[in-house]
Amino acid sequence: MKKRLFTGTKNGFSSIWAGKKNHSLLKKTGDELKKAYVERNEKDLEPVVNLYDTWADAPDDVLRGMVDGYCTPEESERVVHPQNSKDYLLRLRAVYIADHTRTWRVFLHLRRIFGKEWSLEKYFSSDAYDAFRSMLGKEEYKKCKDVACGNIYDNNANGLIFASPHGILSTYSVSLRYFSIYANLALGGFEQEVPWHVRLNSMRIACRVMLNTEAQDFIFDPRGIIPEKIMNDLKTEWWLNNIFLAGHEFSHFILGHIKEENKEEMGFLKPHFKDDTDYRKIYGYTVSQKQEFEADLAALNLVDLTDEEYSVYYCAALNWFAILAVYEGVEDSISPPNGFNQTHPGAIARYTNLIEKARRPKDFDEKIYVETLPELVSFWRDIMINDAAEHIEMYEMYGSAYLDKPNTAWRGKELIDRVDY
Ligand SMILES: [Zn+2]
Repeated sequence: MKKRLFTGTKNGFSSIWAGKKNHSLLKKTGDELKKAYVERNEKDLEPVVNLYDTWADAPDDVLRGMVDGYCTPEESERVVHPQNSKDYLLRLRAVYIADHTRTWRVFLHLRRIFGKEWSLEKYFSSDAYDAFRSMLGKEEYKKCKDVACGNIYDNNANGLIFASPHGILSTYSVSLRYFSIYANLALGGFEQEVPWHVRLNSMRIACRVMLNTEAQDFIFDPRGIIPEKIMNDLKTEWWLNNIFLAGHEFSHFILGHIKEENKEEMGFLKPHFKDDTDYRKIYGYTVSQKQEFEADLAALNLVDLTDEEYSVYYCAALNWFAILAVYEGVEDSISPPNGFNQTHPGAIARYTNLIEKARRPKDFDEKIYVETLPELVSFWRDIMINDAAEHIEMYEMYGSAYLDKPNTAWRGKELIDRVDY
């Protein structure tokens, strides 16, 4: 287990470096000293590092002291002593922030900006889940009305359903929003021109978000300037994607996929470093690939929409799998899929499933979605796979990528970490 520096040093070890002249070690020489030093190291090295892998394991008063920085007093109490699944979701959000210094800084800033209006819970959102629920029939609504849900900072950019000590929860990663925005800026057709190098950089950002190497501080360090008109289109696209993702998770409930016997331990809230032992374990539910396809179809079929609304929603779902397919090309080329990212079938298979089995809207343009878009995806996959092969360190290095160089139309002035934000 990797551990994080948390509290001071244990008596003894630090005194070696404090230069205590009469320290017993300093009187020894040669092999004697070496032996004593090694023994001392073995005995004392461990206590200089954190006693907890995560703040979730810290004693109540220590955790409260930490989360007080970005929670209201009522929220801190709910985080420390969760009574229900909503409290538990708030606790997961708060602990993630405590465990990730950069995200923690972002939230300290946010609290300062919002002042008295600040609430950690209100900062997060369950809007897409609520929107999907509100469009369901009575019976379906009943099945998922009590599920606590919302977005969360989570390095595993995905949607999830899992069991908590207080009931079932569904979450999706905040990262998915940024993935949608930057990937769609790359692939989207906009009236306004988006230069090729900006599109390429945008897709790089999107892939880095999914690979968990892009810093989660977009609020303070926007990766460039996206013209308002384009940004509005991108936000609308994400909103539709978001409802579809929420719908997919709820559909697992509605269709009866979430069963006690399908419960299994899985990794959650993965830290930056890639080490499986550092996953926090939660109980998720194993869902078959067939059920994944069914949940995608149900996310489209269960909602009550006019044909015109359905058309927009359906096409956005296809676009979602199109951008995801580009990313998966990069992901598979960098590291072949392992157990954790095989929870869902591939994006191309899910796209095909929607094309073949979902209800098609009246105005559906078959040529665009059956020919043009798949060709565009394949073009982009080739570009990005080559890019990852040529600039692998750029994809693997933790930090921030940008749409363009400083002092250009798509970037603006360079913002300096710890000076401008
Ligand atoms: Zn699923």
